[in-house]
Amino acid sequence: MDFNLSDTQQQYVDMVRKFVKNEISPKAMALDKEHVFPISIMKKAWEMGIMNLCIPDSVKGYEVDVVSTALIIEELSYGDTGISTSAMCNDLANVVIVQHGTEEQKERFLRPYVDEPLFASFCLTEPGAGSDNMAMTTFIKKKEDGGYLLNGAKCFITNASYADQFTVFCKVGKPTSNFMACVIIPCPPEARLAPDADVHAGREILLPAGGKIIIGKPEEKLGQTLSNTASVTFEDVVVDEDQIIGDRRRGFMYMVDVLDYARPMVAAIGVGLAKRAFDVTLDYTRERRQFGQKISDMPVARDMLVAMWKKCELAEMALMKAAVKVQERAPDRGVYASLAKNVAAEAAIFCATEGLHLHGGYGFIAEYEISKLARDAHIIDIYEGVREVQNMIIGREIA
Ligand SMILES: Cc1cc2nc3c(=O)[nH]c(=O)nc-3n(C[C@H](O)[C@H](O)[C@H](O)COP(=O)(O)OP(=O)(O)OC[C@H]3O[C@@H](n4cnc5c(N)ncnc54)[C@H](O)[C@@H]3O)c2cc1C
Repeated sequence: MDFNLSDTQQQYVDMVRKFVKNEISPKAMALDKEHVFPISIMKKAWEMGIMNLCIPDSVKGYEVDVVSTALIIEELSYGDTGISTSAMCNDLANVVIVQHGTEEQKERFLRPYVDEPLFASFCLTEPGAGSDNMAMTTFIKKKEDGGYLLNGAKCFITNASYADQFTVFCKVGKPTSNFMACVIIPCPPEARLAPDADVHAGREILLPAGGKIIIGKPEEKLGQTLSNTASVTFEDVVVDEDQIIGDRRRGFMYMVDVLDYARPMVAAIGVGLAKRAFDVTLDYTRERRQFGQKISDMPVARDMLVAMWKKCELAEMALMKAAVKVQERAPDRGVYASLAKNVAAEAAIFCATEGLHLHGGYGFIAEYEISKLARDAHIIDIYEGVREVQNMIIGREIA
């Protein structure tokens, strides 16, 4: 086992760190206040090659390994977790094509992401099917003249207002079917969003093959305000056979594969945020003096800084183990993906909460970054499966 980064991995870390320092950190607080999706930052991330990390060599001409992917997302998250969530979401949506698509599907559905800075959405959650995703009712039904019609409503979908392609998990035949499929719904280029489009009222996409996609108004969120989240409804969307990934009855298995890949990436988001909260708090407590000394020198406060540092380090170790397991496609990768996600979410919430406390009253004031980090941290324990779902997966494996 080797804890040293390769030269390439170190170059990725250095490059993203510089990007965060120059392009994200100086703007994140103001953008958070305005609650805007930072298109220009996302485009720069795409130009630098730190988006669409799962796209294989056969389409992109080079490949980024899973450990490097985790490092890139961690560094990006140190700048802002709304931005890293938006960037990572393209991989969340597209990795199923990499894992289970045909070469033609890879070329058709992934190539546009290499050629242009586009966004993708992963559509799993529904109003009545959150943790229990088998309860979903969105479904495809065969048409008499071949092909399928897709109908149903998804909620809380990241990137939805800006997405050019939707990866949709749905039932087969009827809403209560036991079979799940995964279908890809690309938008035609003419339906792409104009760069200056206002998405606040929602958006309707008419598809040339038939049917429409209705995107709801972007959600107003507690945190991660730089990411976009909206509902997505599919109305009589025509789906051809070649838009179905793999076997149309094995979607549940494909979803598990996607989440095994993506949960370490959420863990990377958690580690990035936890480290930021620790650094911001360390800086503050080294400056702030009470009782004639720096807060960082007071034993009880220092104990808390130590506890925060330990959470960061342990979460990073869990993240790296999970990333290696996913990279090697180890049979037990799922349990380590869940472990990393839980531990990193806990580290993020702990460091942000205790960091805020160590700021005293200033931590509660919006202009102090720790208050933003405290708002941003909570979702890490929720999206891609709440803490209890990860524990369920771990429990099944170990007991
Ligand atoms: C900002 C944001 C972005 C998101 N992005 C996406 C996206 O891009 N694509 C997508 O498909 N979804 C997305 N989601 C949805 C997210 O994955 C779900 O919100 C999450 O899986 C939880 O589902 P739920 O909200 O329905 O909560 P519920 O399933 O209703 O759970 C509520 C609570 O019940 C408890 N609970 C649930 N199940 C169990 C159990 N088995 N045992 C014990 N307790 C349990 C837990 O305490 C849990 O927190 C996003 C959500 C948000 C808020």
